[in-house]
Amino acid sequence: MRPALLNPLFASVTALPGVGPKVAKLLARLTGRDDGARVADLLFHLPTGAVDRRARPKLVDVVPGTVATVAVTIDRHRAPPPGRSRAPYLVYASDDTGSLVITYFSAHTDYIAKLLPVGELRYVSGMTVLYDGMLQMVHPDRVVDEAGLAKLPLIEPTYPLTEGLFANQLRRAIEGALDKLPVLPEWQDPAYLAKAKFPGFADALRRLHRPESLDDILPNSPAWSRLAYDELLAGQLALALTRAHLRRLSGRRTAGDGRLREKIIAALPYRLTASQERAVADIAQDLAAPHRMLRLLQGDVGSGKTVVALLASAVVIEAGRQAALMAPTEILARQHLATIAPLAQAVGLRVALLTGRERGAPRNDILARLAAGEIDLLVGTHALFQDEVAFRDLALAVVDEQHRFGVHQRLALAAKGEAVDMLVMTATPIPRTLVLTFFGDMDVSELREKPAGRQPVDTRAVPLGRINEVVAAVGRALEEGRRVYWVCPLVEESETSDLAAAQDRFASLQQRFGALVGLVHGQMKGADKDRAMQDFAAGETRLLVATTVIEVGVDVPAATVMVIEHAERFGLAQLHQLRGRIGRGAERSTCLLLYRAPLGETAKARLAIMRETEDGFRIAEEDLKLRGEGDVLGTRQSGEPGFRVARIETHRDLLQTARDDAALTLTRDPQLESERGEALRVLLYLFERDEAIRLLRAG
Ligand code: ADP
Ligand code: MG
Repeated sequence: MRPALLNPLFASVTALPGVGPKVAKLLARLTGRDDGARVADLLFHLPTGAVDRRARPKLVDVVPGTVATVAVTIDRHRAPPPGRSRAPYLVYASDDTGSLVITYFSAHTDYIAKLLPVGELRYVSGMTVLYDGMLQMVHPDRVVDEAGLAKLPLIEPTYPLTEGLFANQLRRAIEGALDKLPVLPEWQDPAYLAKAKFPGFADALRRLHRPESLDDILPNSPAWSRLAYDELLAGQLALALTRAHLRRLSGRRTAGDGRLREKIIAALPYRLTASQERAVADIAQDLAAPHRMLRLLQGDVGSGKTVVALLASAVVIEAGRQAALMAPTEILARQHLATIAPLAQAVGLRVALLTGRERGAPRNDILARLAAGEIDLLVGTHALFQDEVAFRDLALAVVDEQHRFGVHQRLALAAKGEAVDMLVMTATPIPRTLVLTFFGDMDVSELREKPAGRQPVDTRAVPLGRINEVVAAVGRALEEGRRVYWVCPLVEESETSDLAAAQDRFASLQQRFGALVGLVHGQMKGADKDRAMQDFAAGETRLLVATTVIEVGVDVPAATVMVIEHAERFGLAQLHQLRGRIGRGAERSTCLLLYRAPLGETAKARLAIMRETEDGFRIAEEDLKLRGEGDVLGTRQSGEPGFRVARIETHRDLLQTARDDAALTLTRDPQLESERGEALRVLLYLFERDEAIRLLRAG
């Protein structure tokens, strides 16, 4: 059970001042917690920037274009003239050196009258501009009186937001969350903390959310690094515990007779590649051995992992047992099913789909058949973890795009059968050097060659200034009946702006190409998303404007053109993933990387690598090299997959240290019973790696 002292951190955000149901919903979306954000989720929502309000010049000394906090007397208000409601509301203010115009657009008059009373002194903080020869401040960030000044944060962190959520609401909630921080035992080695100059856990969080200098909020600051180390150590401990556990558990031998596999292979419209054959053979051997399989299947997008997963499942089904295939998104789960269903039907394999969308009677029916052993292979999403999902005899769990799932989720699935063998598939090849760190001790199969008959993708980089030519080229492609993806840029601040960009692009392309254009983005409902994808797959729309929701796995072989707008904002791995959506059929494909000039060094290198190669393994190595050089240019400021705080490019050394630390700790204290061991248990709960603790008890 989670230690009670962590309860305040796992309380719902609705416990915080200023967080009602509406804000809570926005916070859930912001933190990606569908089941509701908790206090800890807010605390780990770290700033991506800060506003420095320390400059306190007299008006005469203000440098327009900078943020300043000025002390001014309010002289008079000028409301927009009647009938011109769109004119700004102006407040004239001054000090003994000059004057300032405070400008509001579409403002509430009463509110401003109260905020800036005539004749009184106010401290006004915000971006200054020179407009019409006058020093102005448009919508100041902060207006306070003498008492408020004492509480005004001089360096104010800024955070990623989501549509409908205001910065002030988020800040207030985070402040409330900081107030709930309990005193926790120190789980790190004091000698290491001293050497690394890391603050305590709570101090680190306070320093990041109430920075005292602009350096405090950089990922390589002591505060951020401390939290990253905590997170990495929790991850490494969980991996090490899982590993130790699996080593103790005996496996079951599952040997099929090959009859289903033979039929499936006969039903395939193509020949397996040599590496697919090898992977299937390795897996069959693992399954037949008395130990537990823990194997990673790495292969580029389009390298044909699904059929390997199906054949692996066939092995256990031949032996009268069951298999599960879990994908990170509903689109992907449905797509796996679509690939598998015809083959399954041809060979008499019973397959079903279970996602969050199956409800009521159909869901109950699936669950009943599953428990009765009348379903051989269950394909689904996170829904497979649910307690009610019980197999008659689960033998093999295949987890696709694993980096989106945590260790504990993997274990939750494994717990649904006896000695469940595990096959993990990832479409982002990971450099060998990192496999161990992310996945622990696993055997690895790689699908290195592309299925025969694939044409290479012609990749070109084009400056944004030539977007009209690109649109014209897209027009020609559409006339030839080709299918085109148009991927919209990542925008720094929030997913909201991603969405706005995609909607704008959709509108402008629709104007030009009419009903041929479709749109898909992450905030659409599941059914709408599916419909958009299906329309595109069926050719009803032929130009699909998308945010990065298409990044993972989506398979429309007829799509042969991809435009990636603001390609310089994407990471290499992401570009590679995206491009993998095309070049899937026998047709020649083209990928246009639209970039804003001038390119930085790293962005230039990234685009050059994209033009040069399609080998995901090579791209992964290059990516690591580039990121190792400390590039944060324009990439989205979210943690590594599976991490909330840690960034591989910044904290790679910490990762290695955490790995060693975890190994050493468990050698000395395998049951985490020492004083530090007890504290480390708290850490595991804190970062929700607590499934690993259950393994301790199982012992
Ligand atoms: P991945 O999941 O590795 O990205 P998929 O399993 O979705 O790739 O396979 C991509 C496409 O390639 C599918 O349409 C699949 O039917 C096809 N495919 C798989 N293996 C082969 C092969 N050996 N030869 C030709 N096509 C193949
Ligand atoms: Mg796939």
